Amino acid sequence: MASYEVTLYQGREVAFLTQHGKQHLVRDRLQDALGCQLVHTDAYDTDKLGTFTNEVVRVGSQLDAVRAKATIGMDLTGLPIGMASEGAFGPDPFVGFTPWNSEVILWVDRDLGIEVQGFAHGPSQSLQRAIKTLEELNSFATEANFPSHYLSLRPEQMDYSAGQKGIRDMSQLVEAFHSAQSRTASGCLVIENDLRAFANPTRQALIRQALDNLIHKLVSACPQCAKPGYILKKKTLGLPCRLCGRPTQLAISEIWECLSCGFEDQKLIKQSKSADPSRCNYCNP
Ligand SMILES: [Zn+2]
Ligand SMILES: [Zn+2]
Repeated sequence: MASYEVTLYQGREVAFLTQHGKQHLVRDRLQDALGCQLVHTDAYDTDKLGTFTNEVVRVGSQLDAVRAKATIGMDLTGLPIGMASEGAFGPDPFVGFTPWNSEVILWVDRDLGIEVQGFAHGPSQSLQRAIKTLEELNSFATEANFPSHYLSLRPEQMDYSAGQKGIRDMSQLVEAFHSAQSRTASGCLVIENDLRAFANPTRQALIRQALDNLIHKLVSACPQCAKPGYILKKKTLGLPCRLCGRPTQLAISEIWECLSCGFEDQKLIKQSKSADPSRCNYCNP
């Protein structure tokens, strides 16, 4: 497919509202790819839109939240282009056993009237447990990948404001443990991974992946209008296996769509082409 460098964003300023250090994760990669200038703002408390620790429950979908952040960032900076990032955590969508993280990065260009979304998802480092003893504290810390991943700790049955977030070394952890225990008669505490971006390298890797997905879509220009956001909309699977002729999970055709002008193109994979038997569920189960 024709994907060439879009110079449209060369030298343009892009608003990015975030409070948890995400600007450091995305700045170099984004600026190198698009030639734009990231304008970071933290002039709005994004925790008002929802927190992972449920002090503030997010209203609406992940996409609603990321759109709200992008809009506020653009309004605060007065820029027509804005970007925002939002993560969600839960069980994996396949079996429901693995803790899972979905990340979205949204790009809004008011001049062109387009929105482009970058996605990534994968296993998360997001453990949570009730503990009572220092021994339990220690084994949790090991399982939770501490201290590369920071922790949060609070007395059970108390809200998150009564606890401590962003715990990053052992002495701080032990101190937080004793302080929290002194405030609860039962001695029961809740400990968990801090899911904010700066505190969780597993999440950071997924945010970078979502950014790469976004950049990939932004540098894909439409053959009709040359604007960014020419993306794969739909794949029809079933390319026949070269050996047995049965349909495989490889695409027969793809539909590409321009987010700017709505141009659509169907690309057929050549009739003569067939799938390698290594991709066939029958020949290579
Ligand atoms: Zn086959
Ligand atoms: Zn177009």
